Amino acid sequence: MEIKLQPATNYERKIFYKEEWDVNDVPDFVIDSLTSREFGFDHYGQGPNDRYKTFPDALRLKRFMKVKQPFAAYCSVAFYDKPKQRKGWKQSELVFDVDAKDVPIRTCDCNEGEVCDKCLSQAKDIVLMIKDVLEGDLGLKNINMIYSGRGYHVRVLDESVMTSSSDLRGQIVQYVIGAKEPDLSNSMGFTNLQHFIIPYGYSKNFTKWSKYTILHLTEKSKLDNVNTKLLKDTLKFRHFLEDDQWGMFRGNIGPIRFNKLISAVARINMSITDTKVSIDLKRILRLPSTLHSKVSMKSTLIKNIETFDPFDDAVPQFVYERKD
Ligand SMILES: [Zn+2]
Repeated sequence: MEIKLQPATNYERKIFYKEEWDVNDVPDFVIDSLTSREFGFDHYGQGPNDRYKTFPDALRLKRFMKVKQPFAAYCSVAFYDKPKQRKGWKQSELVFDVDAKDVPIRTCDCNEGEVCDKCLSQAKDIVLMIKDVLEGDLGLKNINMIYSGRGYHVRVLDESVMTSSSDLRGQIVQYVIGAKEPDLSNSMGFTNLQHFIIPYGYSKNFTKWSKYTILHLTEKSKLDNVNTKLLKDTLKFRHFLEDDQWGMFRGNIGPIRFNKLISAVARINMSITDTKVSIDLKRILRLPSTLHSKVSMKSTLIKNIETFDPFDDAVPQFVYERKD
């Protein structure tokens, strides 16, 4: 059966909250800090304007959801002393938001605002790469992967990042998604990029993302300061990157044009995740387990990202019962 990403009707939403939604599907990392979090709800599909909600326990949350059957439900990434006033900030999860509709190098035929299995699987590749860097380079462990309904949230709850400032989060994001060009004044330059490691192996990371971006460019890709000829040559010679032959690639492109391309690629890398979300300490995010009513998908805590498929694991029952 082909799953269509269409809005849920009010009736379908009702059925979902009555028969399918289970408070036990709300992840432990939310329940364990329930009383410190602010909740927000969108009751009519006009944005989450019912804010500053709190719940003393899971049972109260359950009752609220069963009665209200909200269009969308959110909770804060922040923990507060007084969540009802959004005051007494203590700490916030570090979040990476990868929305399939905003992936800058989509290879599918989606129009703006649309998502499909192809760009959703690209979004998944991206979160896997983010997870690798968070674990491998930064040594983080409490990493939760959430299917958000139209993309993915990576939510990190390690103590070492929970209290970090907006500024620091911005830097962490730049590092994790390879959004900053390594220092070109370094005499080793890019020819040996894959071998030269500046603090914390950043170059290696930048190379990895740049390779990903270049390999996903299409003839239609728009890059700052990159003309049609350069884009064409990039597509022509990028096969060298599949074997990490950056020297060969750069040699064919030419050093000046290569630098131009790399600057443009860094800017594309920057938009792989929504940095605004990562630096916002008081952001609310869709509550895992709840319905994304615009596409009729469940926001879902992912147990095994390797095998996770939103079209198997995040489709509410009512979608299968639809008659076209
Ligand atoms: Zn798509």
